[in-house]
Amino acid sequence: MNVAELTIAQLREAYLTKSLTPAEVLTSLASEIDRKDPSIGGYLSYDLDRALVDAAGCDLSLPLGGVPIAIKDLINVEGHPCSCASKMLEGKYTSPYDATVVRKLRAAGAIPFGRTNMDEFAMGSSNENSGIKPCHNPHDTSRIPGGSSGGSAAVIASHTAIAALGTDTGGSIRQPASHCGVVGLKPTYGRVSRYGLVAFASSLDQCGPMTKTVADAARLLEVISGGCDRDSTCLNDEVPRYTEAVGRDIKGLRIGLPSEYFAAGLNPQVKEKVESAIRLLESLGAEVIPVSLPNTEHAVATYYVIATAEASANLARFDGVRYGHRAEAGDLIELYKKSRAEGFGDEVKRRIILGTYVLSSGYYDAYYLRAQKVRTLIRRDFDDAFTKVDLIASPVSPTPAFKMGEHHSDPLSMYLADIYTISANLAGICGISIPCGTVNVDGKALPVGLQLLGKPMGEMDLIRAGHAHEVAAQ
Ligand code: GLN
Repeated sequence: MNVAELTIAQLREAYLTKSLTPAEVLTSLASEIDRKDPSIGGYLSYDLDRALVDAAGCDLSLPLGGVPIAIKDLINVEGHPCSCASKMLEGKYTSPYDATVVRKLRAAGAIPFGRTNMDEFAMGSSNENSGIKPCHNPHDTSRIPGGSSGGSAAVIASHTAIAALGTDTGGSIRQPASHCGVVGLKPTYGRVSRYGLVAFASSLDQCGPMTKTVADAARLLEVISGGCDRDSTCLNDEVPRYTEAVGRDIKGLRIGLPSEYFAAGLNPQVKEKVESAIRLLESLGAEVIPVSLPNTEHAVATYYVIATAEASANLARFDGVRYGHRAEAGDLIELYKKSRAEGFGDEVKRRIILGTYVLSSGYYDAYYLRAQKVRTLIRRDFDDAFTKVDLIASPVSPTPAFKMGEHHSDPLSMYLADIYTISANLAGICGISIPCGTVNVDGKALPVGLQLLGKPMGEMDLIRAGHAHEVAAQ
């Protein structure tokens, strides 16, 4: 048995029947990483010795007892390096505390193991913006794994991790999950604490599970959700038993199809896969209803104003004084300039410049304020649609994983590929990407994801429908 191929559920079963120990699992994961990851680049680091110490103290009777979880490298884990895949922090920052999600994982018996690659500071859709090293799609290593949580998706798909945490500001959990053929769930804004995540755009960021199955995503979500007194945007209400949605039938569930998400620009092979996944849900008793999200065409522009504005403020702390790389310099202004010029990659600089511009006094009303108003319109589109349906189904990405370098010199074409994922973040709703087959490109089978979007706090329905599809598609 290859331990790294196990799901969380199978691993837990193996522990309970005493056929495996956490130390055995960690040791075989480490050797799988050493064997496979050099050609994938999904991990930035791992620390077996530290994980073995954690394993020795973990309680196997807990819900995630002994389960290793790979952690995106912008989530703080006490005593571990946290680089955000940036030269700004690489080798210069060790987390002095656990993020709330990590604290909750540990309280449930899980073991944080391995730091996954990503686009620098989570800015990107391909992982090509990693300031440390490239990450490849395990289904075709000449292609991107998606981003920004590309490493988390790639390590699951290449079977060097059991499960992982990612973050999603505009699609960064769902899009790499789709391109790598794994499950990725973006919770409702406020469902999961952001304390201890290095912030990209604070009104959009959410942390969520990336797993091999929907049932595993439910288990992880149940553990990481819930109140946090260090994040005032995090809801304190009781966390539903997400695992109880697994196995419920979907008879009568109303699924909306937004015409705007099946229009020009969608690759015909991807469209065919997504439509057949929706037909499968229909055959299981769901009712499919056309809906409209008329402000979809404004989503990319709105997102790239709001996200860059918030990023320009959040990244001000990386100045060589408070945090990060410190350049040799003669005076203070030169120190700031040189530290930031040397520490940040091109995409991060582009976003800081754009964000600073849209917030500047002469342009604030024309760009930032206007984008906030359009954001409200986008949210209202979803409010209206959710009066008629329980879920919305769509593609995750307009194309399968593209070739490395294909969009790299044209950032706008890369931004436009975020069209189906970004609105959920602007509206604050939840979404999941589940594998719905593969398409053949250049002789390689490339995964396609089905996106299901749910009402605020509608994760139960995502899990219920996602699991029903997963079982029926087998
Ligand atoms: N691709 C989007 C961006 O580049 C989303 C990134 C994310 O969700 N972190 O901003």
